[in-house]
Amino acid sequence: MALHEYECPACGGAMEFNPKSQKLKCPFCDSEFDVKDYVANHNSDSTGVSAEEYNTQSTDKDDNEMFIYSCGSCGGEILATESLGSMKCPFCSNNVVVKEKFTGKFTPDYIIPFTKTREDAMQAYSGYVKNKKLLPKVFAEQNHIDEIRGIYVPFWLFSATENFSGTYEATKVRTWSDSNYQYTETSHYSIEREGFEMFESVPEDGSKEMPDDLMESIEPYDRTAMVPFNMGYLAGFLANKYNVTADQDRDKALQRMKETISSNIRKTISGYSTLRPLSENCATRDESIKYALYPVYVLNTSWNGNNYLFAMNGQSGKFVGNLPWSLKQALKYYIPIAAGVAAAAFAVMMIAL
Ligand SMILES: [Zn+2]
Ligand SMILES: [Zn+2]
Repeated sequence: MALHEYECPACGGAMEFNPKSQKLKCPFCDSEFDVKDYVANHNSDSTGVSAEEYNTQSTDKDDNEMFIYSCGSCGGEILATESLGSMKCPFCSNNVVVKEKFTGKFTPDYIIPFTKTREDAMQAYSGYVKNKKLLPKVFAEQNHIDEIRGIYVPFWLFSATENFSGTYEATKVRTWSDSNYQYTETSHYSIEREGFEMFESVPEDGSKEMPDDLMESIEPYDRTAMVPFNMGYLAGFLANKYNVTADQDRDKALQRMKETISSNIRKTISGYSTLRPLSENCATRDESIKYALYPVYVLNTSWNGNNYLFAMNGQSGKFVGNLPWSLKQALKYYIPIAAGVAAAAFAVMMIAL
């Protein structure tokens, strides 16, 4: 394993990808470089040692296997999970990328670079927390907000054409009456539909660490901003290689396409009282798969024995969180309101008397 570093050619400082300028920037001397022009001039051949071998304590080989790298800049030992490929040295803040995690079969086809800065994410989080008045105070503390991290998450992008055919049974009901009787006329229809829809780049999360529902909730990403992968974009951010294969994600992606075309076809059938599908068939063709990295800011918190995760789309700024309600805070917040309402009701009664 070789570590790839982003040493500034002018002053030797650790450069970072800047979401605002979309360039590699040195925070020490302000030099900027186009990502595509930047060629790593400082690669150390620090070999990642499996923490397992290192400790000689044998544990089951699993995805939580840890690796130890030695920082080419300060010699410090960096401990990372097997899938983490881009990180910051905890000792000297040097930005390092483990080349093997993004080359060979792990080479991403595309990347959506961060366009939102870490400050944007911190602001969105603070705004969110401020609006949730029932939150425990710990969530709003600055040292906690500082733990927001920018991560590139691996995604599989599935493209395919779905051929759809369906048969349906529908009815139209007409009622009328004369002076003696009420009439109901039910007409039965047999409906057939055929069509195809081309799907492009349907994303499925390729990372076990990221909860699927969380990633789905911060979609969509604008894939027109997708660019060919270059390791320069990773500087200063965390990045994971995939640990869910395209094969494992494929069924889910195809299912999403099938549900979409089925619902779109059904929308073309209208004006009936009832509609019942008799058969719906889908055939997939022209399938292709690409591998891309998408930008996300995350904040992972444990509080009172529960885990809370907040995330922001690093491209659009869409923010989601699953914040807990604290009963203590709820009482503090609700009691004055309840008292106010009671007082108002009392005043109304007095006037009515
Ligand atoms: Zn510099
Ligand atoms: Zn270091």
